[in-house]
Amino acid sequence: MFYKSSLINKIIKYGKKCGEKNFSPGYSGNISARYKDKMLITTSGSSNGYLTRNQVVLTDFEGKSLEKGKKPSSEKFLHIGIYKLRPEINYIIHVHAPYLSSFASAGKDLMEPIMAENVFYFGGIPLADYALPSTKELVDNTIKYFDKYNAVLMANHGFVVASQTIEDAYMRLELAESYANIVLNTYVLGAAKILPPFEEKKILDLR
Ligand SMILES: [Zn+2]
Repeated sequence: MFYKSSLINKIIKYGKKCGEKNFSPGYSGNISARYKDKMLITTSGSSNGYLTRNQVVLTDFEGKSLEKGKKPSSEKFLHIGIYKLRPEINYIIHVHAPYLSSFASAGKDLMEPIMAENVFYFGGIPLADYALPSTKELVDNTIKYFDKYNAVLMANHGFVVASQTIEDAYMRLELAESYANIVLNTYVLGAAKILPPFEEKKILDLR
């Protein structure tokens, strides 16, 4: 079990990386860490890239702030839904990274087996149906993919990734954004060569 202050440090550190890599332009995105039977989550209106210690708030699984004067991100129920569904998940990063959000906004998932590494790490990245941000419908539409996947595109919105460690969640975010960039490039270059099912299976068997 990590101490609360070290979890806050991790959220700030990886939030900064999200900012530096332009995964979280402006006020977009939010990050959380499971803490006992609660979570630490970035506050409403904060920017992942410029977080201060005051912009992370202890929140219970009813979505209630446990720190006076601090308001959790409006997407708190998305985070809570994933933590409730997947007890082994400890960290969640939600961003509006430009390439991933381009696919999400074009209504295209990233399920086709195009790059071996991506098949290995993600299987595929499904696209959840659109719902108004911060609604229960958005939570329901998105978390239903987390029974099988750890990373999901949210239509006309962005991307969410969950993992046991924040390092791994962030690495998968980098991989996914780079992958979305590559897949977009394959459109420019004519078309991607889709891996045949037997090759896809060989990669999945390595996992
Ligand atoms: Zn968002």
